Amino acid sequence: MDDPQRLWSPKARGLVPYVPGEQPKSGHPVKLNTNENPYPPSPRALEAIREAADAGMRLYPDPDALRLREAVARLYGVTPEMVFPGNGSDEVLAHAFCAFFSPGHPFLCADVTYSFYPVYASLYDLSYRVLPLAEDFSLRLEDYPATNGGVVIANPNAPTGMALPAAEIEAFLQRNRESLVLVDEAYVDFGAESVVPLVARYPNLLVVQTLSKSRSLAGLRVGFAVGNPSLISALDRVKNSFNSYPLDRLAIAGAVAALEDREYFDRIRHRIMESRERLREGLVRLGFEVLPSRANFLFARHRTLPGQEIASGLRSREILVRRFDRPRIGDFLRITVGSDPECEALLSALASLPNISG
Ligand code: PMP
Repeated sequence: MDDPQRLWSPKARGLVPYVPGEQPKSGHPVKLNTNENPYPPSPRALEAIREAADAGMRLYPDPDALRLREAVARLYGVTPEMVFPGNGSDEVLAHAFCAFFSPGHPFLCADVTYSFYPVYASLYDLSYRVLPLAEDFSLRLEDYPATNGGVVIANPNAPTGMALPAAEIEAFLQRNRESLVLVDEAYVDFGAESVVPLVARYPNLLVVQTLSKSRSLAGLRVGFAVGNPSLISALDRVKNSFNSYPLDRLAIAGAVAALEDREYFDRIRHRIMESRERLREGLVRLGFEVLPSRANFLFARHRTLPGQEIASGLRSREILVRRFDRPRIGDFLRITVGSDPECEALLSALASLPNISG
């Protein structure tokens, strides 16, 4: 066949590939572009992964990952039937989009928010409607119509890092009782308020979290949803229709140990929140406007220099950040909060750029 691309289905042709932040193949840049945690995972998680590798790799994993469901249930005071684990929260979100949204009834999400939501929509032929953020980049749930095909809220939002108080989400849940409210809490552990405690009272609330950020396990690919058992059954149904082993043995063992190591988790996330404030002050001194962040990244724009110039200046100094330039938001950089030496390297590289002075 001269051109195997002719074999592509219309669906495959229509998909626009998601481009995550650059993952360098070599070298050791200061990598502040994909919101990874600069610190290693809990030593107990690494030990559990090693033990699992030694003990049982010959055998299939538990398709239900019950140990992990139980660990999440203990953490949040829910039952294991209220927990759905998956291969990264991206997979959990994909299953949720497939299970709860449909083509004729647009789900609502913000503009801007996590760029993967429209990707799931096109993958599953779903319709959606975007609602712009307010002038100050806040998400105004009071403007969301109560009749809708579902609502997706990233809290804190990405890429702005701004968070809604749980009470505002609850006020929305009070008047939005007929469709799914999906709250993506990928960054919640860096100072925002989780709505997991509300799942017992709102059967249409599904909360998704990840171990990629606050638990430093992006490489292990573990996320989970918490919600009413009937929502979890729908997710299990979608999962079982094409992949009944979402999590391997290493992931289950490492995730359980990481969730149980509360002391390490608290130490690392507080360290990152402290670094975030120092980084914010440094950026402000250099002439950046920085949005208030409750995540492990800052969303910032310089008063005079274009983002492209800053990003490429940093790149030539081996520092990676993510640039966003969209009509509704303007010219921003999203900068992951790294270790203190990484943040200092960033600030001194910025200070060395021509025309940066605040
Ligand atoms: N939600 C949001 C808002 C994110 O930024 C990310 C990470 N890019 C994810 C979900 C997915 O994270 P993961 O698949 O690593 O759990």
